[in-house]
Amino acid sequence: MVAALLKRLGVADQAHSRGDHPVHTPIDGSRIASVELVGKVQTTAAIDHAQRAFEAWRDVPAPRRGELVRLFGEVLRRHKADLGELVSVEAGKITQEGLGEVQEMIDICDFAVGLSRQLYGLTIASERPGHHMRETWHPLGVVGVISAFNFPVAVWAWNTTLALVAGNAVVWKPSEKTPLTALACQALFEQALKAFGDAPEGLAQVVIGGREAGEALVDDARVALVSATGSTRMGREVGPRVAARFGRSILELGGNNAMILAPSADLDLAVRGILFSAVGTAGQRCTTLRRLIVHRAVKDEVLTRLKAAYAKVRIGDPRQDNLVGPLIDRQSFEAMQGALAQARDEGGEVFGGARQLAERYPNAYYVAPAIVEMPAQSAVVRHETFAPILYVLVYDDFEEALRLNNEVPQGLSSCIFTTDLREAERFQSASGSDCGIANVNIGTSGAEIGGAFGGEKETGGGRESGSDAWKGYMRRQTNTVNYSRELPLAQGIVFD
Ligand code: NAD
Repeated sequence: MVAALLKRLGVADQAHSRGDHPVHTPIDGSRIASVELVGKVQTTAAIDHAQRAFEAWRDVPAPRRGELVRLFGEVLRRHKADLGELVSVEAGKITQEGLGEVQEMIDICDFAVGLSRQLYGLTIASERPGHHMRETWHPLGVVGVISAFNFPVAVWAWNTTLALVAGNAVVWKPSEKTPLTALACQALFEQALKAFGDAPEGLAQVVIGGREAGEALVDDARVALVSATGSTRMGREVGPRVAARFGRSILELGGNNAMILAPSADLDLAVRGILFSAVGTAGQRCTTLRRLIVHRAVKDEVLTRLKAAYAKVRIGDPRQDNLVGPLIDRQSFEAMQGALAQARDEGGEVFGGARQLAERYPNAYYVAPAIVEMPAQSAVVRHETFAPILYVLVYDDFEEALRLNNEVPQGLSSCIFTTDLREAERFQSASGSDCGIANVNIGTSGAEIGGAFGGEKETGGGRESGSDAWKGYMRRQTNTVNYSRELPLAQGIVFD
C-alpha cells in the first residue's frame, strides 16, 4: 500500500526499498520501507552542487524564480490527498491534519509567489546634496534546512519556497524518522522543475541522513543559513556551531505553551480551544497547549467539562474517524510515562495518560491524553515533554497568571481566553506574554502562514513563514550613489 502511494507521488522504488535504515509507521509499528542514510561525504557533495546552482539562480529575476514556486504549488494541489496520506502513514497524523499540512505548503507557495514581486528595499534620505541612498536585498547562498518529524513536509516548504524566491539554493536534511515524505516532496518538486524547464541542477536537494549529515550542513562555511527545527537540545548544539563560523541560523525549537483562562471567558469556546490545542496531533506540535493557567472561580467547571470531553476523544488509526493518532515511537511513550511519574512525585494529580490499544497494536504507542493538576509550576511543568500532557495551574490574580505564563525557559506560543478588553490588551502588551505568538480567544496551535512564526528564549528566536521573515533568507546591502560633481563627506567632515 505504501509502495503504491509512493509510486503515485513519483518516488522511485529503489529509493525506499534499498538501504539499511528501516522506516516504521507509528500506526502499527510495522516496517514500511528501508532507505539509505548518507553521511558527511554525500552531504558535502550536495552542498558543492547547491553552491553551483546558487551562482546561476541568483541572477534569475525574482518573479521568474516565483514562477517555479507557482508551478510547485500546482503540483501540490494535484497530489494533496496522496501526500497528506503519506504524512498520516509516516508521522501518524489524523487525515485532517495530514491534509492540513499539505494545504499549508500550498498556502506558502502562494505567499512566496506574491513575494517574488515584492522583495522591497527602502530608499533613504541622504544628508549629502546630490546623493541618494537605498537598501537592496540580495540572495544569500546555500540554505541548509534541518527539520523535525512532527511537521515532516510543511516546515521544509516554509523554508524552501521563501529561500528559492529569494534566489538561494537549498539542501534539506529531514528527520530520520520521516524520510519517505521527504523523498515524496523531492519527487514532486522535480515535477515542478521539469515544467519550469531551465532551473540549474541541484537547486533543491534532499539528503536522507542522521546527525552526521546534519552536522555537515552545520559546519560547512558555504551554507550561509542553517534553518533548524527541532528540540532545544538540538538547537543548543547547532546554534553555537553555526555562529562559530559566523553563519546565520534560524532556530525553531521546543515550546511550552500556556493558556490563561480568565473568569470572564466564553467557556464553550475555551474548552474547544483547549481540546484542539492540547490533544490534536497527539500533543506532538511545537505549539501544543501544555499548561492551562485557570482562574480559581472557573477551575472546577472547566475541569469537569474537559475531563468529559477527554473521555470521549476517539483514539486510534489516524486514517480512520479518530481524533488522536499514535505517538511517534516507544521512546516518546516512555518519555511521557516518565513525565507523569515525575509529576506525581511533584504533587500532581493525574487523569488519563495510559497506553491504549496495546493488544491490537503491540508495536505502536497510542495513549489517552492526560490532564495533570499541579500544585505549582514545578520542574516537570517547565520542561517540554513531546506528548499529550496538559498541566493545570490555578491562579487568583491576573498578574500571577502572567508571571506563570512567562516563567518557563521556552517562549513559543501563548493565549488568553477572556472577554475583558483590559486583560486581552495587557496580555499582548510589552509587559504581557513574552512569547513569539500571543493569541486572544484562540488556542496556542494552528498558526496561519501569513504571520512570522517562531518564539523567544529557548525556542531559539527564529522567525519563518509569513510577514517579513523572507529577510532572513537574504542579505541586505546599503547603497549610496553620488550624482553630483562634489565629494561631500558625511557628518560634515572636511578633509581637504
Ligand atoms: P530532534 O531535535 O530530535 O530532531 C530534529 C532534527 O535535528 C532532525 O532532523 C535531527 O536529525 C536533527 N539533529 C539532531 N541533532 C543534530 C545535530 N547535533 N546537528 C544537526 N542536526 C541534528 O527533534 P524531533 O524529535 O524530530 O522534533 C520534536 C521537537 O521539535 C520538539 O522539541 C518540538 O517542539 C520541536 N519543533 C519545533 C518547531 C518550531 O517551529 N519551533 C516545529 C516543530 C517541532
